[in-house]
Amino acid sequence: MMVNGGKLKKEEILDRIKALEGLSQLLDPDKTERAKMSHQMLSHAEAFLEGLGEGLTYTPPPDGFNPQFPIEENPASIQSILELVKDQVEAIGINPASGGHLGYIPGGGLVPSAWGDFLADISNRYVGIHFASPGGVTLENTMIRWLCDIVGYDRESGGTLTSGGSLAILTAVVNARDAHNIRAAEIPQTVIYLTAQTHHCAHKALQIAGLRECLIREVPMSEFKMDSHSLREVISEDLANGLKPFMVMASAGTTEAGVVDPLLEIGKIAREFNLWYHIDAAYGGFFLLTDYGKQVLKGINQADSVIIDPHKGLFLPYGSGALLVKNAAKLYQSQHYFANYMQDAIHSSPETSPADLSPELSRHFRGMRMWVPLRLFGVAPFRAALEEKLWLARYFYIRLSQENDFELGPYPELSVTFFRYKPPWGHWDAINRKLINAIQEDGRVFFSSTTLNGKFYLRLAVLNFRTHLKQIDLALEILMEKTKLMGED
Ligand SMILES: *Cc1c(COP(=O)(O)O)cnc(C)c1O
Repeated sequence: MMVNGGKLKKEEILDRIKALEGLSQLLDPDKTERAKMSHQMLSHAEAFLEGLGEGLTYTPPPDGFNPQFPIEENPASIQSILELVKDQVEAIGINPASGGHLGYIPGGGLVPSAWGDFLADISNRYVGIHFASPGGVTLENTMIRWLCDIVGYDRESGGTLTSGGSLAILTAVVNARDAHNIRAAEIPQTVIYLTAQTHHCAHKALQIAGLRECLIREVPMSEFKMDSHSLREVISEDLANGLKPFMVMASAGTTEAGVVDPLLEIGKIAREFNLWYHIDAAYGGFFLLTDYGKQVLKGINQADSVIIDPHKGLFLPYGSGALLVKNAAKLYQSQHYFANYMQDAIHSSPETSPADLSPELSRHFRGMRMWVPLRLFGVAPFRAALEEKLWLARYFYIRLSQENDFELGPYPELSVTFFRYKPPWGHWDAINRKLINAIQEDGRVFFSSTTLNGKFYLRLAVLNFRTHLKQIDLALEILMEKTKLMGED
């Protein structure tokens, strides 16, 4: 048989097409089929959500756990798919949808975001360029505008919705590199300032952006925050040595300790020395929706670039970050590109096209999963939830400070704190390692741990929208229960 059918007659070609159509149409189930599958899908989702109340937050994989996701020529039922997902994905590991998730930085999972994704996926609108979906692009840009307003940026600002903070910071670093015209030959004299508490995604971004040979200065800290006097000193010293200070990266809510660098002072220094000022607000940014957060994050609008994660503080499901920049024109210069096959798209349009502000061309219609819950619930419950999380972290701290034998970190500035059990006996690092293992084995709540100044600590991070007083009380109860069980051995 000829592979491309070049010698077949028209009738024979038509026969082939018709034979294939029968099978290929299986990709597009009809109304009755869809109704059946949608029903099964929704029942599954409901059972999952209803199970959250009493369910575990962490379940270690059982011995011999070996998940399999077969792909075969023949179809399988939706029921068999849902069973596999339930047993092999949903039942094992950390359950980020649970209000007991108090580790790392908890993610969200608002149900209406899933509906937003559903709408975006069914219509499959392409929102990279305005020409393709004027409405969809306006929705994306409206989300960016809303985020820029939260940060306090003016009309020159802009940005892009990304898959998360890591891709957002990578785009920020590339924007900074291009805006300051850092050329290859200068990289070894170019200096970047951050702290030992800067999230590791910043280092990854610098590496990927071709800046791994820059000089990276870890500025000294006090109370886990960048010391602005030291920053000024280090910059002056670098200048005196003929180096080229380029960028300072501050944190508006560090992952480990949940604290905010002195944003205003760093901003002053950045301006004085003409540095690109980047602020990582991936975790802390949405506290700007609260009055308290506005005070603590004062100065964030001085930044040239900010990253903020809607899949953290706006409680969206994973896959939602954002880069915001003070000057959208500079981001455009760094990211846009022209190709002949895109010529239809280059109509002068009232809206910037997301593809011109991002490395992505084809992309997920991310704005929909953000707008649907915001519109549906209104902003007020988000503000309330964020303020509630701040109070819950403080409440946890106060309660723990009333217990004997706990060493506490600083009073939570946002919704993260760290602590360790410190009975009069024993080796404390080992005791706390044992304690975290016992809590994770129990599984009703999930804490994570970290090492700070060489010591082993447990960490509490309150940011899941399903975390309320009940879960914090349970966490305290479990903590007391497990410490009592730990004898001197
Ligand atoms: C989570 C986090 C990041 C990384 O963001 P991803 O969305 O996980 O890629 C960066 N910085 C801080 C402070 C974070 O909390």
